Order: sequence, then structure tokens, then C-alpha cells
Amino acid sequence: MFQKTLKADLQIEGVGLHSGEASVIQIKPAEADSGIVFERDGQKIGALYSHVSDTLNCTALAQNGVNISTIEHLMAALYAADIDNALITCSALELPIMDGAAEIFYKKLKAVGTQTQNAPRRFLKVLKPVVFEDGKGAKAELLPAKTNALFVHFEIDFPSAVVGHQVFEGNPLDVFESQIAPCRTFCEKQQIDYLRSLGLIKGGNLDNAVVLDGDSILNPNGFKVPNECVNHKVLDALGDMFTSGFHLIADFKGFKTGHYHNNQLLKKLFENQNNYEIWIG
Ligand SMILES: [Zn+2]
Repeated sequence: MFQKTLKADLQIEGVGLHSGEASVIQIKPAEADSGIVFERDGQKIGALYSHVSDTLNCTALAQNGVNISTIEHLMAALYAADIDNALITCSALELPIMDGAAEIFYKKLKAVGTQTQNAPRRFLKVLKPVVFEDGKGAKAELLPAKTNALFVHFEIDFPSAVVGHQVFEGNPLDVFESQIAPCRTFCEKQQIDYLRSLGLIKGGNLDNAVVLDGDSILNPNGFKVPNECVNHKVLDALGDMFTSGFHLIADFKGFKTGHYHNNQLLKKLFENQNNYEIWIG
């Protein structure tokens, strides 16, 4: 299997979730072995777990004084579109939030298409179980793959009756377009009210976020897919796992986890070289 990049440049315009201001990105083909790299104000930042600076409500990168935030949905779309190498120039701090999911990014990437490069793809193959627990009931694990691919088991248990206990199990790449890409960020109305009072989420609306109000959902058209909430967590995890710098051969397990746990899990994985091998596909 060979590495891939985009066939041509792609421009995507939207607004930042928090600023509500215009955000334009250009996704460009990049050389083999360069990975996914963001660029802002002429400074480049590799999309790597070691450059993650914030995991509070999104995954953000920082290096050399340059910050890029909300990279996770685009990262998942790049992974699922089978891309290894791309340069993404950004006009603003926040990537455009678009649909609050990865459907628009993914469709645009698929429409541009990929170009095969003259270098073998290197996979990250997990060899030993790596576990991160936060002591508050959340647990993320990377385990040796039972299949020779990426397999995800994700569970959430949310107090709201419209969400409750949801499970995803499978290879997210197999069902990405229909079951994962459309799934939006979700949050509670009281959380929204609080963030608005701080002058944040100016770009948020009921098209790009699921808003829960107790045991009901405020979005007039309801959920896009039945298990939208857990599937969005799978989308986030896929994007975050791509900050390893590789496509994975591993079983990922997440229980009530988020960006913070994903980043800690990768840090733990890379702490010990016996945990993994770089496998030429
Ligand atoms: Zn997300």
C-alpha cells in the first residue's frame, strides 16, 4: 500500500465555532512522509499529539507561538479519505466548524480525490495494551488489533434520556460516510448558555451542534443518525488518533472519553517503544 495525498488544492470557507468569524482553509497536496501539517502566518505545525496544547472543548495545536484549534473533525475526514500527507493553510485560529461534524470536509476531499505517492504507507501497529484512566470513570485503551485493521469499541453513558447508553463497535472507516461523518458535536443547553455568557460559541447553532435540554433535544429535525452522540465521539477519537502521525492497526476502546484522554493515551503509547511498531503496508 502506498501513501496518498490530494489530487489538487481544496479551499473550504466557514466560520470559527467560538469567534463566529470567517475562517478559510486551503488543503494542498504534500510530499510523501510529510504527514498532515497546518500552516498559519507562515509558521508550520505538524498535526501531532506532541504539539497538542489544549483538549478542553476541542483539540488544539501550538508551536512556535502559532495556535490552531478544532482540528479533530478535519483530521478524521483526512484519515477516512485515505490521505497521509497534506498541507493545510489556515486564515484564523479556529478551523471552520462547518456542519459540526466531518461530512462537508469528507465530501469535498472525496470530490478532489487522491493521488498515490511513490512511498509505502507506514502504519502504527499497537503491540501491547496501553490504558489511560482519569480516575473519574473514563478509560481509553489501545490494544493489539484482533483484525488487521482499526477496530473501535466506544461507549457513552449520558444522563439525558434521549442519549443514555450508546455503543459503537466496528471499523469506523467502513461506515464513515453514512454513520460517522454526519454526526455532530453535542452539548447541554445550560452549557451553551454559560459559554454564550462568556462571549464564546458565536458560530454555534442548531445545524452544527446537537443541543440537549434535559431529556429532550432542541434541534427541530432531531438526530441525523440514531446513535449520533456516541458516533461523534468515534469521529473525535479517529481524528485524535491521527495525531499519532499514522493510520493505525489497533483496537481502540473508549469509555466516556474525550480529547484529553485520547491525547494522554497517545503520549503513554509513545513513552515506550515496546508498545508499538511502525509497520510498512
Ligand atoms: Zn467533535
